[in-house]
Amino acid sequence: MIKQLSLKLKPAEALDDAIIKDYIAQLLGKQSATIIGFHKLKQSIDARSKRQVWINVTLNAFIDEPFAQRNINTVLLQEVANANKKVIIIGAGPAGLFAALKLIELGIKPIILERGKDVRARRRDLAALNKEGIVNPESNYCFGEGGAGTYSDGKLYTRSNKRGNINRILNLFVQFGAEEKILYEAHPHIGTNKLPQIITAMREAIIGFGGQFLFEQKVTNFIVKNNVIKGVTTQAGFSFYANAVILATGHSARDIFELLYAKNILIEAKPFALGVRIEHPQQIIDSIQYHCVSRGNGLPPSSYSLVHQVNGRGVFSFCMCPGGIIAPAATNPNELVVNGWSPSKRNNPYANSGMVVSVELADAVKTLLNNDRPPMTDDRQLLTVNPLTLMYFQQAIEAQAYTIGGGKFVAPAQRMVDFCNNTVSACLPDNSYLPGLNSVSMADVLPPFINTTLQEGFKVFGKKMKGYYTNEAVVVATESRTSSPVRIPRDAISLQHPQIANLYPCGEGAGYAGGIVSAAMDGERVAAMIAEVVGVNT
Ligand SMILES: Cc1cc2nc3c(=O)[nH]c(=O)nc-3n(C[C@H](O)[C@H](O)[C@H](O)COP(=O)(O)OP(=O)(O)OC[C@H]3O[C@@H](n4cnc5c(N)ncnc54)[C@H](O)[C@@H]3O)c2cc1C
Repeated sequence: MIKQLSLKLKPAEALDDAIIKDYIAQLLGKQSATIIGFHKLKQSIDARSKRQVWINVTLNAFIDEPFAQRNINTVLLQEVANANKKVIIIGAGPAGLFAALKLIELGIKPIILERGKDVRARRRDLAALNKEGIVNPESNYCFGEGGAGTYSDGKLYTRSNKRGNINRILNLFVQFGAEEKILYEAHPHIGTNKLPQIITAMREAIIGFGGQFLFEQKVTNFIVKNNVIKGVTTQAGFSFYANAVILATGHSARDIFELLYAKNILIEAKPFALGVRIEHPQQIIDSIQYHCVSRGNGLPPSSYSLVHQVNGRGVFSFCMCPGGIIAPAATNPNELVVNGWSPSKRNNPYANSGMVVSVELADAVKTLLNNDRPPMTDDRQLLTVNPLTLMYFQQAIEAQAYTIGGGKFVAPAQRMVDFCNNTVSACLPDNSYLPGLNSVSMADVLPPFINTTLQEGFKVFGKKMKGYYTNEAVVVATESRTSSPVRIPRDAISLQHPQIANLYPCGEGAGYAGGIVSAAMDGERVAAMIAEVVGVNT
């Protein structure tokens, strides 16, 4: 017999299968030996009680029943080397990779063109960035095999469950090597150390089934005839032709946004969010969330999610990384961007999170006009109608952060309470950011509306989480690549660009996803639509 049960366990108990079997037996009035095994279906942490943190587990128990391995819904790929239909995918991030796998499943040949390098070669460029302060504009935390997803934190939760089948995406990750626990944990996480192998396995499958996967092929032009896209050309001088083109270049491909704008292909300014990354000692966050001095055995480093409105403007935490590292995520020299990641064990002594403020087009126009380095024009009207204005704003703040940091990706920083009191910190705490921090006034980096909204937000968050508002935390600038500052429009039904037939804007860069899972789901959705439109063997 297989029976579904729910248990409430102490953290150490949840780690011990023998204890779990004993609880199952007790609950059913059976001998422990009759419980052959179990599959966890859901697992979450309940830290609401100040006296005891509980782990809630829902599972299927096998009682006097042969134990069967968990059924991973593997996706069946088919040989596509000689398929009649071909699709160019620009960008090998989660959107591009999952689109490719879906196309192969449906019998269509993907041709992936990626500007960056494979995961291995990419690692060397990340080392140069962290240790020497040198960024390769084609190979960094955002560009290269697996896109921004490869050296990301690998948190796999998303609120966009209406956009596709989250379980299918998680199962695919397991099919390519992720641990099964991502299928039942409330907040699944892979970790930066494990993602590269998974991405490599995906590439090997894509090539193995006849797809094409080309690195260091930066797309620099679209081949369009009579408003129908026929193919693309790359910087290396090659042309590629196909039945459709998926544009999945991510939120950092500014040259793609500029190319679309230059070619009069419709794009729109898209509000996004910008701010800082905040880092606390992990122990402070654990003691707040778990109501204890030390979290002890069985509990993972704790996380948080915070949101507040200041005068109608949102300030919120973003991409929280318990046990994590702050990373230099810039794609260009002389621009400073930070983001966060953590290894699968989340065993670094720091907890970092983006803390960002929503930015509208009007904010960007105002800031750029008040800025002494306007990037393109001082004409308010031009800025208001230019779809790249929010991107220019983002770029201007990143450049300012680089300058104030002092170069080589040393980041401007301030202790949290000092930041809120507008006092330059006398010294900075130990931290995880490898290129180093420089104690400055954040008011010299961030526009006043962001600075003051963050200050107000931190004070409110300190009331929500006692101990959060502390000078042991450090504020680091700038967290600016939260989502795309540009949207590439597409028809809600056909998913094609409204002006250019067979062009499919996709993923985070086009404005249809935010994070790994939603980008992957969007890639699948677009691929399935293309299969419907172009057919398979016709
Ligand atoms: C450090 C870090 C940590 C993160 N942590 C998380 C997390 O824990 N959870 C989460 O859900 N999300 C996280 N993210 C965000 C996540 O990685 C992105 O949301 C996701 O990767 C977006 O997928 P995408 O495929 O749409 O675009 P991307 O991943 O950005 O991929 C776009 C790809 O297109 C390529 N490209 C760009 N221009 C061209 C061109 N002209 N020609 C050819 N190729 C081109 C790029 O090189 C890149 O490989 C993190 C990001 C970073 C940087």
